[in-house]
Amino acid sequence: MNKFEQLGLNESLLKAILDLGFENPSEVQEKAIPLLLEKDTDMVALAQTGTGKTAAFGFPLIQKIDADNRNTQALVLSPTRELCLQITNELKNYSKYEKGINVVAVYGGASITEQAREIKRGAQIIVATPGRMQDMINRGLVNIKNIDYCILDEADEMLNMGFYEDIVSILSDTPDQKSTWLFSATMPQEVARIAKQFMSEPVEITVGTKNSGSSTVSHEFYLVNARDRYEALKRLADANPDIFSVVFCRTKRDTQAIAEKLIEDGYSAAALHGDLSQAQRDGVMKSFRGRQIQMLVATDVAARGIDVDNVTHVVNYQLPDEIETYNHRSGRTGRAGKLGTSIVIVTKSELRKISSIERIIKQKFEEKTIPSGIEICEIQLLHLANKIKDTEVDHEIDNYLPAINNVLEDLSKEELIKKMVSVEFNRFIAYYKKNRDISAQSSGERRERNDSEPREFNNNGAVRYFVNIGSRDNFDWMSLKDYLKETLDLGRDDVFKVDVKEGFSFFNTDPEHTDKVMEILNNVQLEGRRINVEISKNDGGGRRDHNNRGGGRNSGGPRREGNFAPRREGSGGGFRGDRNSAPRREGSGGGFRGERNSAPREGGFRRNEGGSDRAPRRSESFGDSSRPRRPRRD
Ligand code: ADP
Ligand code: MG
Repeated sequence: MNKFEQLGLNESLLKAILDLGFENPSEVQEKAIPLLLEKDTDMVALAQTGTGKTAAFGFPLIQKIDADNRNTQALVLSPTRELCLQITNELKNYSKYEKGINVVAVYGGASITEQAREIKRGAQIIVATPGRMQDMINRGLVNIKNIDYCILDEADEMLNMGFYEDIVSILSDTPDQKSTWLFSATMPQEVARIAKQFMSEPVEITVGTKNSGSSTVSHEFYLVNARDRYEALKRLADANPDIFSVVFCRTKRDTQAIAEKLIEDGYSAAALHGDLSQAQRDGVMKSFRGRQIQMLVATDVAARGIDVDNVTHVVNYQLPDEIETYNHRSGRTGRAGKLGTSIVIVTKSELRKISSIERIIKQKFEEKTIPSGIEICEIQLLHLANKIKDTEVDHEIDNYLPAINNVLEDLSKEELIKKMVSVEFNRFIAYYKKNRDISAQSSGERRERNDSEPREFNNNGAVRYFVNIGSRDNFDWMSLKDYLKETLDLGRDDVFKVDVKEGFSFFNTDPEHTDKVMEILNNVQLEGRRINVEISKNDGGGRRDHNNRGGGRNSGGPRREGNFAPRREGSGGGFRGDRNSAPRREGSGGGFRGERNSAPREGGFRRNEGGSDRAPRRSESFGDSSRPRRPRRD
C-alpha cells in the first residue's frame, strides 16, 4: 500500500499525488494529514521551509471540501502575491481529479472586480493575501461568514510583514465553529498570540527543531571589502556556471540596480520587487521557473515563501536587517530534500552577524575565499568542454558539414579543440587576467603589507570612520586622537588621519580594529550624549586638503552622495597619492597607506537610502571600460 494511502487520502488525491511525483509523505505531512482528516480540529504546525507544508494542509483540505456545494468553505491566508498564486496553483493540481472544486486567488495588484466575479461563480476555496482580502470584505465582495476552514500559511511571515491587524479583522468575520490551521516555520510571540486568541485547543505538531534552518542547506561566507561586493557576486556566479539562484538585496533600489548591472554584464538575471507591476512580476517568476533566468535578484518581501525547484544557491548580497530573515532566505534552496548552498557576501564590520546567525540556525558557516581569476577560468573551461561533450547534435547541420570541413580540414584534432574552446573563452580569460584578488583579509591571517602595490591591488586599505563629535565638543585633531586611543585602548599609531570638523570628525584605523571601534565607540557617551560612529564611504581616504588641486571641482564643500570622482588608473599607488597633500601633522599614518588622488568623499558618510554598500560603478572598480562582456551562456 502506498504511504499516502495509509494516511487516509482518497482515490482522486492519490492519483494527483502520483502525477506530482511524490513518493513518500514528508514528516509534517505524515503527522498533519491523518489528524486533519480524522476530525475537525484546530492545529498549529511548525516545520522548516521546504518541508511540504502546502500539501500538509492542501491534501486534507481538498478531501474535506464539499465539491457539490458552491459556497465558500475555506480561506487560506498567505503573505505575498507570489505565494498566493503558488498555493492556488498547488491546490488546483491536488484537486484536478476532483470534479467541481474551484480555487480562486485574491491578491493586490490585479483587478478586484475580476476576482470578485470569479468568487461569485462559486469558489469553495479562496487563497488570499490579507490586505486584498480585507479590502474585499470591506466592499462586500466576498462572504466568509460560513467557512469551515481557515488556514494561516507562513503565519510568521504574515505577522512579520505587519498583517496582524488585517488578520485579526478578517478572522473576526469568520464563524467561531470553523477549524483553524496555522502553518509556520517559526513560532515568534505574535504567532503564539494569534494562536491563543483565535484557536481552541489546537493540536500541535513540530517537525525538527524550532527555528532551525533546513539541514540540507550548507552555509558559506565570503569576506570582501564593501566596494568589491558586486565583483564578488559576479565571480561567485562565474565559479558556478550552472548556478540557479535567488540573490537577496535589502532594498528595492539595490535589487533593481544589481539586476540591471548583472544584465548589462551579460548574466541572465532579473529583478523581483514590489515596485514592479503584477504582470511584470508574473513574467519574471515565469522566466525563473522556466530557467531562462539564472539569477533572480529579489527583496525579502517579494521572494518570501517562493518555491522553485532546484535552486542551487541563495546569495545574501547584503545581510538582512533582521537576522531571523536569514532563515527564510536560505529556505529558498535545499527544498524537498535536495542540497543547496546559502552564501553570504560579508564585510568585516558585519562579521559579528555571522555568529548571531549561526546561533539561530544552529549550524556553522564555512569561511571561503572568492575564487581567483585563474580558478574561475579553469572551472569555465571544464564546463565548456563538458558542454561540448553533452551537446546533442541537430542533424540539420549535416547539410553544412562539407563546407565547414572544407574550411577546417587542415587543422589537427588538438588544434581544432583549442580553437573551438578559445572561441568562447578568449574574452573571458582576457577579463580575468587583468583582475585582482578581491578576498578581504580573513579574521585570522594577516597578509604581508605590500606597499609597492597600487592601492587597488592592496587589501590593506584603512577603514575610515565618521563620528559625531568635533570641534564643537572641544576636540582638535590631537586631542581627538588621544581620546580615541584611550577609549579604544589602541596603540600610538593605530588611529590616524584624524580630521576634525565642527560637529563631526573622521579618522582611520586598520581594518583589524573595526569591530572594536564600532562596538566600543557606539556604546560610550560623551557628556551625556551618545557617540555615534559609522564607517565612512570614503574608505581609507585622506584628509580634506585645500592645497590639493588634484581634487578639482570636488575639493569644495561636502559632496553629494553618489557623486564621487572616479578613481584614476594608476593614481592610487604608494606614495603618489599624497604628493600634493599638505604636510601631515599626525606624522604617523604616513603617505604609504596609499591615499588616492581622488578627492575625499566626506559628504558620503550618510547611509545611502538604498543600503550602505553600493557596489562600485564599473569605471571605479575596474577602470577599464573596454572590458568585454562576459560570454553569455545559454
Ligand atoms: P513549505 O511550505 O514547507 O516551505 P512547500 O509546501 O512549498 O514547502 O514544498 C516544498 C517543495 O517540496 C515543493 O516543491 C513540493 O512540491 C515538494 N514536496 C512537498 N511534499 C513532497 C513529497 N511528499 N515528496 C516530494 N516532494 C514534495
Ligand atoms: Mg509554504
